[in-house]
Amino acid sequence: MIPLKEIWIYSETREGRINSVTYELLTRALDLKSKINDCVIAALLIGHDVPREDKEELIKRGADKVYYVDNPLLKDFVVEPFSKVLKELIERFKPEIVIAAATTQGRTLMPYTAVRLHTGLTADCTGLDVDEEGNLLQTRPAIGGNIMATIKTQTRPQMCTVRPHSTRPAPADETRKGEIIDVFVKLSPEDMPARKIGRINDESQEVAIQDAKVVVSGGRGIGKPENFKLVYRLAELLGGAVGASRDVVDRGWIGYPHQVGLSGKTVTPDVYIALGISGAIQHLAGMQTSRTIISINKDPDAQIFKVSDLGIVGDLHEVVPLLIEKLEAMKDEIQ
Ligand code: FAD
Repeated sequence: MIPLKEIWIYSETREGRINSVTYELLTRALDLKSKINDCVIAALLIGHDVPREDKEELIKRGADKVYYVDNPLLKDFVVEPFSKVLKELIERFKPEIVIAAATTQGRTLMPYTAVRLHTGLTADCTGLDVDEEGNLLQTRPAIGGNIMATIKTQTRPQMCTVRPHSTRPAPADETRKGEIIDVFVKLSPEDMPARKIGRINDESQEVAIQDAKVVVSGGRGIGKPENFKLVYRLAELLGGAVGASRDVVDRGWIGYPHQVGLSGKTVTPDVYIALGISGAIQHLAGMQTSRTIISINKDPDAQIFKVSDLGIVGDLHEVVPLLIEKLEAMKDEIQ
């Protein structure tokens, strides 16, 4: 019997638990599986004492099987042993496609492993598809973000990293069934040239726009830095976070951690509100997968309206204070 082709996703863990970005990779894999004949999705999980419920969650969210490699040396992410495991498993099971998130972990592990396997890697993809022959079509911004390039890999496996938050996590289906396969890979202390001694958070980067359900972003149309108080107030009333276009970040009106777009963060909130943002392709790359997009712009031909579910043509300095007034009144009524 010819073995089924396997699409692998690298299941990233933090502090021993699966990171939700992994479920976004399952959304990508499920989409590819629906287009490729005779293939299965396998999640590769490397760690130590990962709870059984986390492995089952991978199955509920789309994996047909989970390859689990457990070893105390794999408790924390260190690239050398993780890459050794990934390489050995790829050589043993020969997956067609291996996908990881373009996080610090994925961006470290995948190139390191691709070099060892002498295969290609497309980094930071924003779109994945397959051609008629089942080859992976990997789309990513290129030439300074001015074009979107679609790349095929001649060698096998086809390896790529995908931008976090560029799609939604696969929902759990409690009825899905799959296999959890324990795999042994020999590791010795010599495979550990480094070890984690602690973790320090860079608080200046901690703006939770990527996890917010509502993001209110300001662009150049805000007019001046002081006017960002309107954006902050609207975001506060909606329980959301504040985002920004690159233009206003470059002007120093707000810090870089707020920047949404190609060279900033990718967000997929339930509601994205763009205030005075034109909708340049580099901005859209960071927010167009939001569930509902609302824009306020005084130019009826602004590009942002092409991706908006609700577009308000008007001066934000008139519309936003009215919105704030209404929301404040509603808040008082509720209290
Ligand atoms: P503008 O394009 O100047 O638009 C301002 C908008 O405000 C206009 O549409 C105008 O009609 C409207 N407006 C003005 N006054 C009012 C008012 N009173 N009421 C309502 N509307 C008003 N950009 C990003 O955002 N994120 C990125 O990550 C990013 N990365 C980039 C990477 C590269 C390699 C390059 C080349 C560019 C990148 N850019 C990025 C920049 C991008 O091309 C645009 O220049 C930028 O997004 C424009 O910001 P903006 O929409 O705020 O400003």
